[in-house]
Amino acid sequence: MKNYSNKRIIVTGGAGFLGSHLCERLLSEGHEIICVDNFYTGKRSNIAHLIANPYFEIIRHDVCFPLYVEADEIYNLACPASPIHYQFDPVQTTKTSVHGAINMLGLAKRLRIKILQASTSEVYGDPSVHPQPESYWGNVNPTGIRSCYDEGKRCAETLFFDYHRQHNLKIKVARIFNTYGPRMYPNDGRVVSNFIMQALRGEDITVFGNGSQTRSFCYVDDLIDGFVRLMGSPDDLTGPVNLGNPDEFTILELAEAVIRLTGSESRIDFRPLPEDDPRQRQPDISLAKKRLGWSPLIKLENGLNKTIEYFRTYSE
Ligand code: NAD
Ligand code: UDP
Repeated sequence: MKNYSNKRIIVTGGAGFLGSHLCERLLSEGHEIICVDNFYTGKRSNIAHLIANPYFEIIRHDVCFPLYVEADEIYNLACPASPIHYQFDPVQTTKTSVHGAINMLGLAKRLRIKILQASTSEVYGDPSVHPQPESYWGNVNPTGIRSCYDEGKRCAETLFFDYHRQHNLKIKVARIFNTYGPRMYPNDGRVVSNFIMQALRGEDITVFGNGSQTRSFCYVDDLIDGFVRLMGSPDDLTGPVNLGNPDEFTILELAEAVIRLTGSESRIDFRPLPEDDPRQRQPDISLAKKRLGWSPLIKLENGLNKTIEYFRTYSE
């Protein structure tokens, strides 16, 4: 039974990996969801199980264009997130981040509603401070092949804070670190999906460089819980707030863990390191701990097992 004190919430990018989990979570809390997506990388199969729910609605829409609907809150996730996808049409990537932010902020301003931006640890670029606190301004190449994503997201953050200062809009900015889980795309080039698919197919595991670069991987359920807590936090907490798992692993350790957990006979194949590949990345989540009472609960091995299970049964 619908509780009418609950909200109507827009999730842009709601048919994507994180967006579909967020829609599920918010529906389970009794909210009404408007999922806005142009299916650039998102898939109907990610949300097929939600379509019968009378409180779930989909609008096929590109956030680069204005949107006129009524709602109580916006989560702005629309943007391709994996390097293969965001580098496929870099101009469109920047447009999605910048025009998308302008349009969704404009909508939030007209409706006087709260809006959360899915930003990224990529705003720190190849960091010279480790781990990265929110106060670190980053080390970003403005003209490289990752710049369409990194600078687009940085500009979106600027827009969020200017709408906040200039129009008194209630904003929340989450800086998401590498997140993984079911509904990642098997061929999107991201390291967790790549390694699992390679291991399940018995192919060589492609470790770029010597595998000593580090990342910290957050399981999707933990991340979504952080999103919801941030949206519900007091208005003075605009962020940016880092959301990620501070447990740091080398890419080689990840490859070895995937081989072990899948029981695969795959071998490791070292390949050249891509341009601008950050050496280290680990979130400092002190702020999220203090203000949101949040820290990730799911250990890498458990999260990897759930993800491996999804990819085993995965069919396009
Ligand atoms: P994803 O590619 O699975 O989802 C992005 C969604 O946005 C897709 O459904 C896509 O179709 C939609 N989209 C893209 N351009 C659009 C446009 N112009 N108009 C409307 N919809 C559009 O990626 P994800 O991993 O779910 O990432 C979601 C958000 O979180 C992104 O903004 C991403 O930058 C951010 N993020 C993700 C991670 C991660 O590890 N997954 C890390 C940092 C930040
Ligand atoms: N990576 C790798 N093999 C792959 C895919 C990625 O060694 O098949 C490495 C990549 O070079 C990077 C890390 O894994 O150092 C994480 O890559 P991903 O694209 O998943 O995320 P990001 O670089 O955006 O953190």
